[in-house]
Amino acid sequence: MEPKVVEIRGFLPETTIDYPGKLAAEIFVAGCNLRCVYCHAANLVLPENYTKLEKFSFEKILEAVKKRKGWVDGIVICGGEPLLPAYEKDIENMAMEIKEAGLLVKIDTNGTNPKFLEYLIREKLVDFIALDVKTIPEKYKELTMRNGDIAKLVEQSLAVLKSSNIDYDVRTTVVPAFHNEEIMEKIGEWIYNVGPKGKVKLYTIQNFTVSDINSILDPHTIFVKQHNYEPHDDKDLDKLESFDRETLLKFRSIMEKYAEKVRYFE
Ligand code: SF4
Repeated sequence: MEPKVVEIRGFLPETTIDYPGKLAAEIFVAGCNLRCVYCHAANLVLPENYTKLEKFSFEKILEAVKKRKGWVDGIVICGGEPLLPAYEKDIENMAMEIKEAGLLVKIDTNGTNPKFLEYLIREKLVDFIALDVKTIPEKYKELTMRNGDIAKLVEQSLAVLKSSNIDYDVRTTVVPAFHNEEIMEKIGEWIYNVGPKGKVKLYTIQNFTVSDINSILDPHTIFVKQHNYEPHDDKDLDKLESFDRETLLKFRSIMEKYAEKVRYFE
């Protein structure tokens, strides 16, 4: 069960990479409606984990960030998933207060609440959106471990972004067990054809990496997909692979057909 109200369970006073071209503070909201196998935020997604984390006060965070205004440009709200229906009122109030303080608001979302996303954009409560496009529609269920037409909601969210004037980034975390050149080509065609036909503004390829196996939601499933056998013990899970630079560059050149700008992180 996700919390009924927004719980901030993580805070970074400064990030240079999570808001393109800006220096921002970042707040991490607990709870998510998906269970992506490769998720690196198991501590924020699983209730048995996030309830053990420190809880932060939004008001205190905002006061601290306001003092550094001029140096810090804005606040990134990420998670977990900040746009869950139960969080709408809280997120709207938070975005309003951040904007009233003269700071920018960026929201990172898995795209499962297109109506609220549209509302935030219409009300000018957000300046930048990062939207996850995890894979092609047919593979969403396998990757997110959730039933229901998640891909349809993501498609609607992307259509909202492409029809608006807002700055946005479409992001894919690429995992050798789930992505390859063919899948990337199909993701590209999909995002190109959604909403007003044409390239998305910015596309980010995020390489799957394993720095801490305990932070990954389901390393076992990834391992089995990657190696075609059951791991013998936890040490086996160290064999989880990332893509090499050459493959990331191939992905980048594929996606350049479908996005105005493409970047990748190793
Ligand atoms: S990667 Fe998936 S499970 Fe993890 S926070 Fe994002 S949407 Fe939720």
